[in-house]
Amino acid sequence: MTMAKVDPYLNEDAGTMSPYEHGECFVLDDGMEADLDLGNYERFLERPLTKASAITSGQIYRAVFDKERRGDYLGKTVQMLPHVTDEICERIKALTRHQDTIAVVELGGTVGDIESDIFYAALRKLHYSEGRDAFCHVHVSVLMETAGGELKTKPTQQSVQELNKRGIMPDMLCLRLPKGINDISKSLKAKLGEACGYPTIFVSPTCSSVYAVPGIFDSQNVLDTILYPGVHEDMRRDTLGNPAPHILAPFSKIATGVRSAKMKITIVGKYLHRNAKGEAYDASDAYLSLRHALDHAAISIDSLTLPTLEWVDAEDVIDKKDYWLTRKDEPQAIILTGGFGSRAFDGFIQTALYALDKKIPILGICLGFQMMALALAHLSNMKDADTTERNPETLSPVIHIHHDSKEDDTKGGTLRRGLHLVTSVNPLMGNTIRTMKERFRHRYHLNPAFLSSFDPSVQWDGEVDDLPGVPTRLMVQGHPFFWGTQAHCELTSCPSHPSPYFVQLIKAIFNCNGIPSM
Ligand code: GLN
Repeated sequence: MTMAKVDPYLNEDAGTMSPYEHGECFVLDDGMEADLDLGNYERFLERPLTKASAITSGQIYRAVFDKERRGDYLGKTVQMLPHVTDEICERIKALTRHQDTIAVVELGGTVGDIESDIFYAALRKLHYSEGRDAFCHVHVSVLMETAGGELKTKPTQQSVQELNKRGIMPDMLCLRLPKGINDISKSLKAKLGEACGYPTIFVSPTCSSVYAVPGIFDSQNVLDTILYPGVHEDMRRDTLGNPAPHILAPFSKIATGVRSAKMKITIVGKYLHRNAKGEAYDASDAYLSLRHALDHAAISIDSLTLPTLEWVDAEDVIDKKDYWLTRKDEPQAIILTGGFGSRAFDGFIQTALYALDKKIPILGICLGFQMMALALAHLSNMKDADTTERNPETLSPVIHIHHDSKEDDTKGGTLRRGLHLVTSVNPLMGNTIRTMKERFRHRYHLNPAFLSSFDPSVQWDGEVDDLPGVPTRLMVQGHPFFWGTQAHCELTSCPSHPSPYFVQLIKAIFNCNGIPSM
């Protein structure tokens, strides 16, 4: 089974999109800068996907234009139908090249969006060319609730009519339910069935954990509608009627975990929004994989507990004098997150210095790692140490751009990104993290010319295959947990294989609180 996302926007990938608007950019092993949904797919499939699973209008149109310039269309007039639809269909069909592969393809946006229309035309074509048995259209729609608690099906009926206008009759209808409603009446289902061409109807209640959803779908026998008799046997129920264990087991533990303030993690970021009370929070899912990675790690250590998260805007750390010292409580653990541009960098540096001083466990990821290195450089008497990302003229470019990197004005697709093999060279860290495949997405990195100027308590580690001599991990000896990594360790965590960085951070919380780690 594989999964793919089709995004009708004109960007070629999600690499140039603001995390404020579009959430995090999820990097795949092959370097594809994909929509954050790809992260959800990888966490549920528990294996890596490739760029074939991240399709956008930008890629489709570019491919068609390139083919036209090459003369591939042999003198034909190049048109939306069939040339653009063919390009879309080919990419979707390529996902199921292996026999018996089921590809779950999510078309983003809403039926009726101007950008999506060509994709519905392509889906109609696939339905026709592949046949009913090989193609199942699932329409996802939200049921609205009135102030009086009545569920309204009209928007769903209307959207199915929009689909019908485009030549598509949905085979299944997935109804997202408002919070607190777990199912709908038989009569409501019958009414919707009549209006929508008798699809198989199932419901998707609003859950506190996304990991509860597979079990909820399974209880409605959703898979039975899709699987073929005689094939896909490994996904079927056993003789007792239980679902195949590999389908639900990794998720049910997290779904039943309870958030506890005993495990509270403070996340410092620069892409946060404010709620009505003025508190920072991750409204746009700019840190979605990080939140998941913490849950995976927590549940692997204490099978009942999920962490509570606190969000701090790095700009507040700069703007509010002595932010950390004037707070009423000390954080149990801090994470410094990734980011681009020079805004709020000092908030990260001040946080690193505070955690160092107060011996608070802290993990720095990508930009977070770079800012930890600058904090340590300042303490090691490199007073003007900086990153050339914000100060290209600094005399101490402790973080700089690699001389092989293109320093041109093109932003899209020019970062160092994707999977690299990271080898531990320092036994201190090597005891926990040996050779690991890690994902990267950055332009700047540590300048090895300054390594010898750091205090000896700073330990460097993590040699990457394509950047010899440039450490990608740091830790400080004598501190309970002061770790940084240039890699985006949150992107490679899944329920059964939590990232060791987060596992170690949570163990450090237990150690600091006098609870023996497991
Ligand atoms: N802005 C930094 C760089 O480009 C860090 C990137 C990140 O956090 N993903 O190197």
